[in-house]
Amino acid sequence: MALIVQKYGGTSVANPERIRNLARRVARFKAMGHQIVVVVSAMSGETNRLIALAKEIMPEPDPRELDVMVSTGEQVTIGMTALALMELGIKAKSYTGAQVKILTDDAFTKARILNIDEHNLKADLDAGYVCVVAGFQGMDANGNITTLGRGGSDTTGVALAAALNADECQIYTDVDGVYTTDPRVVPEARRLDKITFEEMLELASQGSKVLQIRSVEFAGKYKVKLRVLSSFEDEGDGTLITFEDEGNNMEDPIISGIAFNRDEAKITVLGVPDTPGIAYQILGPIAEANVDVDMIIQNTGADGTTDFTFTVHKNEMNKALSILRDKVQSNIKAREIVGDDKVVKVAIVGVGMKSHVGVASQMFRTLAEEGINIQMISTSEIKIAVVIDEKYMELAVRVLHKAFELEAA
Ligand code: ASP
Ligand code: MG
Repeated sequence: MALIVQKYGGTSVANPERIRNLARRVARFKAMGHQIVVVVSAMSGETNRLIALAKEIMPEPDPRELDVMVSTGEQVTIGMTALALMELGIKAKSYTGAQVKILTDDAFTKARILNIDEHNLKADLDAGYVCVVAGFQGMDANGNITTLGRGGSDTTGVALAAALNADECQIYTDVDGVYTTDPRVVPEARRLDKITFEEMLELASQGSKVLQIRSVEFAGKYKVKLRVLSSFEDEGDGTLITFEDEGNNMEDPIISGIAFNRDEAKITVLGVPDTPGIAYQILGPIAEANVDVDMIIQNTGADGTTDFTFTVHKNEMNKALSILRDKVQSNIKAREIVGDDKVVKVAIVGVGMKSHVGVASQMFRTLAEEGINIQMISTSEIKIAVVIDEKYMELAVRVLHKAFELEAA
């Protein structure tokens, strides 16, 4: 007997028929004698619909009230899922985040899980229930409803698996695993049988939408065995997220995947006097406003001034620009502050880079041959990311996929 957490995304609960399907799968696992915790997202499109509703009332919705609204999507699907299980004669009970006692901080709309009380769930599992938990939501110390950021149900699933010491966390989605890149962009993209946790983390942080990045961080930290599977196929082992020391070998490809992110915008602060503290003066107020910064580049010119470029989420570009123009500009005396949201980030990821040289030059040559200009570069041990003009995104991903021989064998 194993304890398995199964997380189902929005497309897997999109309508009653799919929920019945999900229930039949859970029933099969239950019949094998396993204990099952099901985590569900809202029906696909529902969270977007709720956010749009809120914005009709208040263009920049108050985050606490927004969380009250958007968390309802998952409350509907847990009830429906529990009902579908009951219809199959299975004992089932739904739980909101607060009912489980998923304690988070109070950063509404992007809260972090602080603690999970596993007692209620454990008792119900032992009594033969399937526990159906609402993804994406929790409760702060004052009892306020919080949500974990878009795609947060993955994190709920992994966090529950960690708290319950589950044998496996299965993420059921509309694709049958993790691919070398998005098959909608490159039809030759191939499913990976396994990928290391480090690579998955980079892919997720570079824009792959298969798993929410926090869920991967969580899985790494608590060594949760994580598998991505299709909820539309009964066969197939999906993609297993492994730890680097586990059975990977020299034959593994240098590059495992290519991610891209259309959500970033570039902000450049031009002609700032090159003095100590400039980076802090620019980025301090940005961080204080809770705006996440991704890439950062600073380059000092011969004239003693420096250009400072960084990227933020597209939605936060205007906020960041006004902070710089209203609060920072008078101190740093930049020549100009410009924003550009017509950019994308493309990244190649692979643990094989650690032991191979020339990966970066191969990437840059491949892009140069297509006349694609690189605006920013950032690297880690297992990743090379570039920012380019958005109009070249699909071309860049396609030629890189080919250059690194990621197509189906
Ligand atoms: N329903 C939430 C969202 O759309 C959480 C999730 O699906 O994971 O972002
Ligand atoms: Mg999702």
